[in-house]
Amino acid sequence: MTPPSTPSTPAAGPFAGSSRLNGIRRAVELDALADRPQVDLLVIGGGVTGAGVALDAAARGLRTVLVESRDLAFGTSRWSSKLVHGGLRYLASGRIGVARESAVERGVLMTRTAPHLIRALPQLVPLLPDLLRPGQGALIRAGFHAGDALRLSAGTPGALLPRMRRIDAERTRRLVPGVRTAGLRGALVAHDGQLVDDARLVLALARTAAQYGATVLTRVRAEDVTGGSARLVDTVGGHELTIRAGAVINATGVWAGEVDPSIRLRPSRGTHVLVDAAALGHPTAALTVPVPGSTSRFVFALPQQLGRVAIGLTDEDAPGPVPDEPVPTDGEIGFLLDTVNAALSTALTRADVRGAYAGLRPLIDTGGGSTADISREHAVLESPSGMVTVVGGKLTTYRRMAEDAVDAAVRLRGLPARACWTARLPLVGAPGHRDSRPLPERGVPASLLARHGGAAAEVLEAGELTPVAEGIDVTRAEIAYAVTHEGALDVADVLHRRTRIGLVAEDAERAAKAVEEILTECQES
Ligand SMILES: Cc1cc2nc3c(=O)[nH]c(=O)nc-3n(C[C@H](O)[C@H](O)[C@H](O)COP(=O)(O)OP(=O)(O)OC[C@H]3O[C@@H](n4cnc5c(N)ncnc54)[C@H](O)[C@@H]3O)c2cc1C
Repeated sequence: MTPPSTPSTPAAGPFAGSSRLNGIRRAVELDALADRPQVDLLVIGGGVTGAGVALDAAARGLRTVLVESRDLAFGTSRWSSKLVHGGLRYLASGRIGVARESAVERGVLMTRTAPHLIRALPQLVPLLPDLLRPGQGALIRAGFHAGDALRLSAGTPGALLPRMRRIDAERTRRLVPGVRTAGLRGALVAHDGQLVDDARLVLALARTAAQYGATVLTRVRAEDVTGGSARLVDTVGGHELTIRAGAVINATGVWAGEVDPSIRLRPSRGTHVLVDAAALGHPTAALTVPVPGSTSRFVFALPQQLGRVAIGLTDEDAPGPVPDEPVPTDGEIGFLLDTVNAALSTALTRADVRGAYAGLRPLIDTGGGSTADISREHAVLESPSGMVTVVGGKLTTYRRMAEDAVDAAVRLRGLPARACWTARLPLVGAPGHRDSRPLPERGVPASLLARHGGAAAEVLEAGELTPVAEGIDVTRAEIAYAVTHEGALDVADVLHRRTRIGLVAEDAERAAKAVEEILTECQES
């Protein structure tokens, strides 16, 4: 098809300028697309990459449709360590360009686009003589200093991410009370960014994209995709339609090779286990434990929302068909517990494990070697059919990946788009976003604020502030808001993507009935 010759303005429909996603909007927008199945850009995949691409394109004035076969953040984007990395790890292996890109994007996320979802997380390496090999402490210290230099070169202020320092044993125990005390000489501490939740970043991107005019459709699978068309299958209503697009961007992560057979990936599985924060004495910092026999691999115990600590992570080759939800192996769980136990005063056992999850990294196949050695750089590739695929990279660098992918599509297919400006565009809930409203001075739970930022005032209007189930700090208002504003279509969307209650199966069972009731009420009103 011939692309339009002038930048198109997002359609002024009933949802113009609104970031709300819900079942009604989905149905109306699917009908509108069936009536006018021609767009500037079709984006396939609703993970962090695809949602980022949709926002980038819509903000440049392109008529954009994003289709996601399951739900927003259904794939790898909800199984991460939720860190907004400064790229220290890449510096260690000499990949200065990737490290700097990460540090710059971390700064953008923490200062402008999504500061409401990210906090500065102290990460400490305990100085326990039998934990560190001779010289390893000095190496880690040098690495942390290099991380500071990278942060400074990216222009991120020390007030946001304090510089590395050494702390004494007492302060170490205060930050991570479960740390082994025998022989403890203090700790080295560096700071990185931590998301309250990865799926919420995806959601904020998709909602902001919708506000800028993108059509965001979940439960819509793309099939028979070419560089200028696709068959879209609505898996709720069973309808199909063929859409024509000036360009098509494949952002399906580990599924990219299913959409474009010219893509070759080598997925690697990363596993985390979840324990109660109480088992480590409610830490407020991450505990970093070197993997025996490696100078560059560490296991992290990361404090999380909902009163948990996530212990991760592994890096295992995962060949074969891509599962919907990867499953951690018993060996990986054992490895994580054994490694972290070396730094704890009371060892964790299998009985402490409340849940476990695994995700697949969409790594580009570069032949032999370990998956840990494959570059985390992203790639933008054009297939023989003209489809553009964006793959690899990481959560932290989604914005840059999106910019590169849209630039490529614009260049290759002659789309009429403005320049990228997402580095200055606050996401829904961020300070400076046009819908952010002042909050009542009292009575807003800190956990709600951490998940919603400036959108919290809107959440308060959606329902009651009582917990959805005893001991779970997610309110009924947040469940209602997930349905009316965040595009949750069923109980699983709420439990597993809008909230992360589902990470612990027992919690999901306890909350399911109330979630079902609220969902039905919202869908009927
Ligand atoms: C264990 C682990 C820990 C990580 N930790 C971090 C971290 O701490 N910080 C960091 O920056 N990065 C981290 N990463 C990397 C980061 O999570 C990924 O790079 C990123 O989430 C990939 O996102 P994506 O959007 O490309 O893929 P996905 O999130 O997998 O999204 C692809 C989407 O495409 C959809 N889809 C597939 N086929 C179709 C189709 N035919 N039609 C429509 N939709 C389709 C899928 O349903 C899916 O939702 C981690 C990765 C792993 C595995």
